[in-house]
Amino acid sequence: MALHTGSTEPLRAHHSNPLVGLANPAVGDNVYLPEIGLADDPVPPDVAYQLIRDELLLDGSARLNLATFVTTWMEPQALTLMSDCADKNMIDKDEYPQTAEIERRCVAILADLWHATDPNDACGCSTTGSSEACMLAGMAMKRRWEAQVRAAGGDLKTRVPNLVMGANVQVCWEKFCRYWDVEPRMVPMEGDRLHLEAPGAVAACDENTIGVVAILGSTFDGSYEPVAEIATALDKLAAGGGPDIPVHVDGASGGMIAPFLDPDLKWDFRLPRVASINTSGHKYGLVYPGVGWVLWRDKAHLPEELVFNVNYLGGNMPTFALNFSRPGAEVVAQYYNFFRLGRNGFTAVQQASRDVAMSLAERIGGLDEFELITKGDQLPVFAFTTSSKVTGWDVFAVSRRLRERGWQVPAYTFPEHREDLAVLRVVCRNGFSLDLADLFFKDLLSAVHDLHEDSGNTVISGPSGFRH
Ligand SMILES: *Cc1c(COP(=O)(O)O)cnc(C)c1O
Repeated sequence: MALHTGSTEPLRAHHSNPLVGLANPAVGDNVYLPEIGLADDPVPPDVAYQLIRDELLLDGSARLNLATFVTTWMEPQALTLMSDCADKNMIDKDEYPQTAEIERRCVAILADLWHATDPNDACGCSTTGSSEACMLAGMAMKRRWEAQVRAAGGDLKTRVPNLVMGANVQVCWEKFCRYWDVEPRMVPMEGDRLHLEAPGAVAACDENTIGVVAILGSTFDGSYEPVAEIATALDKLAAGGGPDIPVHVDGASGGMIAPFLDPDLKWDFRLPRVASINTSGHKYGLVYPGVGWVLWRDKAHLPEELVFNVNYLGGNMPTFALNFSRPGAEVVAQYYNFFRLGRNGFTAVQQASRDVAMSLAERIGGLDEFELITKGDQLPVFAFTTSSKVTGWDVFAVSRRLRERGWQVPAYTFPEHREDLAVLRVVCRNGFSLDLADLFFKDLLSAVHDLHEDSGNTVISGPSGFRH
């Protein structure tokens, strides 16, 4: 949705490439892209394609975007399969039963990857991404809490539900709380603690807590929150007569990393307190946007009243979603990746991303100008800040410099209590090869060199004999 439609005056003098006009004499050379109202007349498809494609060059290269977690490279075969499915509406399960079956298989594969006790009893669905998945998981937690309050003879009108999470949560959780009238209980960061840990989580819980969100891993720095410790602390709280609070794991990224690279880390349905898990198929699930997944450990954890049985086009189908129509292509592409890569293929791809992240982080951490916040050894993501030796420039200046070379590396400050901490973050994904990482490192060195020169500082690091 475009929230703003304001537009500066278009340069009406501009015309298309004369070759386009010559190839399409009926169009002439003064076609322009509509900015406010529709033009009266159609244009030939190749003209429309060429001009819109030209304009999109301004978006930059998705592959050089080290800011996004979202997949920017897929195999051509996967892309072909996606365009084969572009006309299939995911919601028409009756019309496209095989797409529906493929969605079911993906849920079963994830239930197995995440160690559901009984993969046949686990339930879940695809979504447009983790944001929708988190909304659904949040709604289920809220409904289960309401049912418990009612069963205990409580009065819901006098109670305000809350959700406990770290201040580092992704914005979708704040949205969930605002849209569904839940009080967000954000546990702030403190000193070197840059995400949620067990003591802070438990301290924030009370009888109105619908759940605790643990993140695998944090978008701020790629670190895993200690899910097992949080779960154990909540087990103790319940065993001591306190409230019995479920954990939802936001595995938007880590849900597709940990099963392959950290098989011994217990963060998933192996922990009885974990009620639900989401992941973004379009992040480390290696699919183009947008697809996400949400699973509940068993049917008892998904309140039945949230599932709609829709009689649609003659068939009866259960659905749990915020939207209705959406493409089947991404779900099919997720299945392609599962089939194509298998466990070993996924492990190899994720390990390669982690190797790139760790080696690049190590090299950056070795420079006098920077300090690592994380090392890329959890999510293949790391954050770094400037060291105390740097005075004449900051991470924001580095980000702007890198942009001149086409690299998009976000610089941002941390949330409350650590607003003083400003970092750069690099997300290593499939397609960001060691070779590209090398080029990136060279460009970072040259940016640092220029920033020193511009600010009149002496150059601290940099390759010996560096010349422009
Ligand atoms: C990206 C992300 C989300 C939102 O996911 P989308 O798939 O972009 O909707 C939620 N939580 C975390 C931890 C994330 O990294």
